[in-house]
Amino acid sequence: MRGVSLYSLRIVKLISGVYQVDVNGDRFNTKPRGLFRKNKFSPVVGDIVDFEVQNNTEGYIQHVRERKNALKRPPVSNIDGLVIVMSAVEPQFSTQLLDRFIVIAHSYKLHPSILVTKRDLANSQQIKDIEEVLNIYKQIGYMTQFVGIDDDKATMMQQWPSGLIVLSGQSGVGKTTFINHYRPDLQLTTNHISKSLNRGKHTTRHVELFDRNQGYIADTPGFSALDFNHIEKDEIKHYFVEFNQYGEHCKFRNCNHINEPQCQVKAALSEGKIAQFRYDHYLQLYNEIADRKVRY
Ligand code: ZN
Repeated sequence: MRGVSLYSLRIVKLISGVYQVDVNGDRFNTKPRGLFRKNKFSPVVGDIVDFEVQNNTEGYIQHVRERKNALKRPPVSNIDGLVIVMSAVEPQFSTQLLDRFIVIAHSYKLHPSILVTKRDLANSQQIKDIEEVLNIYKQIGYMTQFVGIDDDKATMMQQWPSGLIVLSGQSGVGKTTFINHYRPDLQLTTNHISKSLNRGKHTTRHVELFDRNQGYIADTPGFSALDFNHIEKDEIKHYFVEFNQYGEHCKFRNCNHINEPQCQVKAALSEGKIAQFRYDHYLQLYNEIADRKVRY
């Protein structure tokens, strides 16, 4: 006799076609049933599902709840917070790269926060410059953090939003250090042999969520700075969020704030209310996407 125990849960791992969920601290496996295959619909990690427990280790996904957002490569859904991770140096901090990540984040309906690492490796001039720039992002409305190796990671990470967090950024900026903080499997084994084993394991492409205070952290970069193909040139202006309050008052409703007359965004720019580098990056991205269209 099958007990009917139905739970609303989040898919926490997908490996070799098997989905995993946690029911009261125990991990259960499930394969998508014929229904999903027939509709060509694949559940992804992060999905909230109605899960029916069948025995001690297995069950069925009965239903997948509507997603509030979803990243594509690798797929993760229902993200509550995105942290863009940049390093001060090695690789060098770049507002151009940061703005790319911010634009992509907004295109996925995510309001990101900004974390800059390796403060301890930067000289005093670099620190001053980065702090100045971060202040601008703070005024725009992004949470910013600037940390070095001696800063208390736990306290810092408590400021991140609750729920499911994804860290995005180039390789080498220290994302893994933060993710590993929540990986009990790594914390248990710290010797050299297991480290190299884990490195091997990490190259296999699977997505997994790890428990953190009041939520999860995903062990995936989420997206890269080149992930622009789904974005149209006319939508980018909305992802430079500080433009919006001025853009509403432009003469033309569909003003792209480039050569149009009586553009309030350009007026705000000339008055110093919008940072020049932000506007430059907007133009750059706009042109890049416009060129892409022409080449088709
Ligand atoms: Zn305008």
